[in-house]
Amino acid sequence: MPATILVVEDEEDISILLRYNLEAEGFGVQTAETGHEALEHIQHQLPDLILLDWMLPEVSGIELCRRLRAREETAQIPIIMLTARGEEEERIRGLATGADDYIVKPFSLPELIARIRALLRRASPNLVTASLKLGDLELDRTTHRVRRANRDVHLGPTEYRLLEYLMRHPGRVYSREQLLDGVWGNEVYVDERTVDVHIGRLRRAINRARETDPIRTVRGAGYAFDERFAQPA
Ligand code: CA
Repeated sequence: MPATILVVEDEEDISILLRYNLEAEGFGVQTAETGHEALEHIQHQLPDLILLDWMLPEVSGIELCRRLRAREETAQIPIIMLTARGEEEERIRGLATGADDYIVKPFSLPELIARIRALLRRASPNLVTASLKLGDLELDRTTHRVRRANRDVHLGPTEYRLLEYLMRHPGRVYSREQLLDGVWGNEVYVDERTVDVHIGRLRRAINRARETDPIRTVRGAGYAFDERFAQPA
């Protein structure tokens, strides 16, 4: 499952160019033309990074950035602002509002992609490293092997994807709907209870008798990888 980038840009040609090139680099890409559309996307699925155009109709890029920073569940999403050439003041305001980086139009694609990777490494190292180690649980993205306390854990493909997805952002609570979209993909129709079934299988596979369960059930909300489990003892 690739890292997902939400591109918020009202100019169609730029949006198409970005989608094409980011997908070619292996990212999952969603696009929105307006701030409202972006908020709807985010409500449905939190992206791993947002490319945000400054000049948008209705809600401006800067206003959208401010709103995202003000909400707990979106405060940490890395944001790169796309600004017009020579608008020094925009950049300063963008960074002051909480954007992590900015890039000036017309931009160089290799530079933009390098900035995206650098920001993802800094903000979400769990998204990009080949091997994830949280507590005594290890997941290797290259070999798809999972180990707990140095023993091999055998997971079905769905349980593997579910674990990998939850481990990306320890502490982040995902609704069943978000897990279905992120793990199963939104083109597949599966019942939300399917998530519970696979979480159950995952738990049985990774937890032995007295071991702490790293998966937290959040009543009325969904599931999270327990951030306390992720911290070194
Ligand atoms: Ca624009």
